Amino acid sequence: MILHNTAQVNTRIDAGTILTIDDNFTTLTDHSLIIENGVITQISPTESVQHIIASEHYCLPNHVIIPGLINAHGHASMALLRGIANDLPLNIWLQEHIWPAEGKWVDSDFVSFGAKLAMAEMLKSGTTTFSDMYFFPEVVAQMAQTVGMRTQLACPILDFPTAWGSGPDEYIEKTLELHRAFESSDLVHMAFGPHAPYTVSDDPIRSLISAAREHSLPIQMHVHETQKEVNDAVTNSGKRPIKRLSELGLFDPDLNTQAVHMTALTESEISLLAKTNTSVIHCPESNMKLASGFCPTQALSAAGVNIALGTDGAASNNDLDMLGEMRTAALIAKGDTGDATALSAKECIRMATINGAKALGLEQLIGSLEVYKQADIVAIDLDHLNTLPSYDLPADIVYNTNASQVTHTWVNGKLLVDCGHLTGIDEDMLKDEARQWGQKIKSGNK
Ligand SMILES: [Zn+2]
Repeated sequence: MILHNTAQVNTRIDAGTILTIDDNFTTLTDHSLIIENGVITQISPTESVQHIIASEHYCLPNHVIIPGLINAHGHASMALLRGIANDLPLNIWLQEHIWPAEGKWVDSDFVSFGAKLAMAEMLKSGTTTFSDMYFFPEVVAQMAQTVGMRTQLACPILDFPTAWGSGPDEYIEKTLELHRAFESSDLVHMAFGPHAPYTVSDDPIRSLISAAREHSLPIQMHVHETQKEVNDAVTNSGKRPIKRLSELGLFDPDLNTQAVHMTALTESEISLLAKTNTSVIHCPESNMKLASGFCPTQALSAAGVNIALGTDGAASNNDLDMLGEMRTAALIAKGDTGDATALSAKECIRMATINGAKALGLEQLIGSLEVYKQADIVAIDLDHLNTLPSYDLPADIVYNTNASQVTHTWVNGKLLVDCGHLTGIDEDMLKDEARQWGQKIKSGNK
């Protein structure tokens, strides 16, 4: 039998509701997404696409479909150090626990397995793109390609030698080598990742800014994580970190600069960020757990600064759940300002999607569900007691949806989570290996 007026496509998703996160925050009911070769090619009322036959057809009437979440800052492989040191301030946590553990354990095997563990957790909780700042980024790049996840790898740059290299010159050279190696990848994007103002001196910062300009690479850096960082810089150099970095040329509209944390900001610093199109990556749970301080999201937003959202590493969060991070961002903004209107649910969803895409320079590809964007898509099942009844969908997603309600995750049109199960990773084996790593690290015997 010949069927007339039919079309064959890769994937058709019939959705109860679609939150597009386009400029108008358009919400569609009973619409379908059509995906061909990893790209969204059509978004239309379901009744109008009945003639379209798909190799993979999903009927999700009780779900909301959203763009894949973008975790704009983290250290994926630190999933293996999840919970290793808790209830400590940043300097003690970092200097007495994390850096010694990393010195002992971090090698390419640690990074490879830690990244896989993190990617599995992120995919299952609706994250499709993550930015990573960690050693052996070439290993994370390979794992991201194997798993099928999208990533920005902010290759680490520090003044001192690490397991990954001898010092800043080698780190910068390796970053450029990786950029050349992955330039044609549609999943892996490179960036410079100078660790922090207190671990990178002026000359390497000048060098990486120059290389970033030449090769159009983003720069992601921890800046103003704590008031102590600011105070120490003023004591040591007479300058606040942002003033020093600004004089070195880090904040410039011609660069893609992503400043992570950004607590303890003055009004003039906020206006500098706005003027220079610098993105701020807000990591509220890590900031609260380490008592680092508060990123003034309301003031930044009012000034027009692009704010994205990140979990930071699992060692300071202690999970990689962007739905939880949105909730925390909303609550902390209200608690910090005493203003219940601060950081609305819609703003939080934008931070975790389109703002993250803008921060990473990927807004033409991802961050919203629009025709010709890549099919990075997440389905959340709303047929749960904690999401019924529903009056305000963005508020439901931010305030009362759990990561376990994520049922499907697609990256580049490829289904990586199906009915809550990873399609390409054996979860039982992954858990066994995570337990073995934990026992080994706890025993102290490498
Ligand atoms: Zn971090």
